[in-house]
Amino acid sequence: MTNLAPLDIVIAGGGTAGWMAAATFARFLGNRASITLVESDEIGTVGVGEATIPQIHNLLVGLGIDQAEFLRATNGSFKLGIEFVDWLRVGHRYIHSFGSVGRGVGLIPFRQLWLRGRAMGVAGDYDDYSINIAAARAGRMAKGDGAAKAIPDLSYAYHFDATAFAAMLRGYSEERGVKRIEGKIGEVERDGESGDIVALTLNGERRIKGSLFIDCTGFRSLLLGDALGVPFVDWSQWLPCDRALAVPCESSDAFRPYTQSMARPAGWQWRIPLQHRTGNGHVFCSSFMEADAASDLLLANLDGKPSADPRLIRFTTGHRAQYWSHNCVALGLAAGFMEPLESTSIHLVQSALGRLLNLLPGDGQRLATARDTFNRLSDIEWVRIRDFLQLHYAANDRVGEPFWDHVRNTPLPDTLAQKIDLFRDAGLFIREEDELFLDDSWGQVMLGQGITPQGWSPLADNVPGEDVGPFLGSIANGYRAKAATFATHRDFVATMVAA
Ligand code: FAD
Repeated sequence: MTNLAPLDIVIAGGGTAGWMAAATFARFLGNRASITLVESDEIGTVGVGEATIPQIHNLLVGLGIDQAEFLRATNGSFKLGIEFVDWLRVGHRYIHSFGSVGRGVGLIPFRQLWLRGRAMGVAGDYDDYSINIAAARAGRMAKGDGAAKAIPDLSYAYHFDATAFAAMLRGYSEERGVKRIEGKIGEVERDGESGDIVALTLNGERRIKGSLFIDCTGFRSLLLGDALGVPFVDWSQWLPCDRALAVPCESSDAFRPYTQSMARPAGWQWRIPLQHRTGNGHVFCSSFMEADAASDLLLANLDGKPSADPRLIRFTTGHRAQYWSHNCVALGLAAGFMEPLESTSIHLVQSALGRLLNLLPGDGQRLATARDTFNRLSDIEWVRIRDFLQLHYAANDRVGEPFWDHVRNTPLPDTLAQKIDLFRDAGLFIREEDELFLDDSWGQVMLGQGITPQGWSPLADNVPGEDVGPFLGSIANGYRAKAATFATHRDFVATMVAA
């Protein structure tokens, strides 16, 4: 067996991505690597990124960070899913929740029984069969014990203050030996023969040498994009929003255990409740709305007094053609961005870190294979998420509104068109290639966006007809009754934080 060669890791950038990388390397590579992080206070971070998905638990557990400590440090709250308001048409709403919907019977998927029950007139809304949605609608939260049971535990993620999260990870990393250097990267020095990066020069003087460089410089992509010339693959034909305005406001009485996403004439608005404030933002497409109008719309739709002026962030959706080139891996915004609709960016940093740790070559002989595998798997992950995001836009009934007409009429990638076809036929879904979002997520968003299956799978006919209604009713009633016993979200957070 070959041992891992000692690594000199240099992380460029100290936003969420940079400090997640530093903490993960410090925890898992221990004294096999020296880890240096360079960041520039002058440049600053993007400062947004407040909603997550349940996979964040793996990061916190992996790093050994206690949940209560985390919630205290980041003013965090719980997230059971995302409510989509007005996306299908004005006045319509649905929740894409975490966790499972209903309960299958043997090999018969729950959605098939529901589809049959719907045709028989004995099924409620699909939303009625999610314990997460029952709790979200009641504004309640509970933590289970992870044991299998008839009524599953809530599946949850967090909302948090992104700047506080990066600061927490910085403390964690520095305690474990990560060296932080403040300075502005000027030159990226490359080896004349291999093209590998050799060193970064700060402010025209100090030189930081390394053997593995992690580009976390945000949208600039200073190392992978600028220095190594890896081109950007533009996805704005599928995901055309290219601007965001972010503004915090005072908390309202409604301390919802979920994110809200409200469709707007040229994009959508997020609302994220934290303990000390609410995070808001308006993501929009500049070809359909001016920034001033987008700002007015955002400010007119806050549920508290704004505590700052809206900050404009420009972006183009897409990714670098390779995420790893030579001896440089890009993470976070330096690798690409798909807009925050399903809170996937922080997760993509985390999953790329996991992949990288598992592929770090022993003696350097198989570096090219590791790199190709990393890039291939990353591509699959990104494409499947892009399809899921595009689904939200493409399936809409907001006819006559220029932006919504445009996104509805945009040709779909084959990968998405096939998924919609299968679903429209009989509510079918097959998970492909380890994609991030599972059957229940796709099912909720397909139905929420008005894609109605024409039939159901013959599998569902294996249950006697007279049993379908009582079976569905027992789940919905059981979930609703159980959710009513949970603590309010506010009380639940207060208890945890005080613990
Ligand atoms: P940044 O935060 O931009 O950090 C870049 C770092 O590089 C900084 O430390 C900077 O100082 C440093 N740097 C740059 N140039 C130099 C230089 N020349 N010299 C030295 N240092 C340099 N993600 C989610 O998961 N959930 C969300 O809800 C979510 N919402 C978002 C909303 C918006 C509008 C946007 C734009 C993004 C959102 N994201 C979200 C994405 C999330 O914010 C990012 O993935 C995450 O913050 C990581 O950012 P980063 O660290 O890659 O970049």
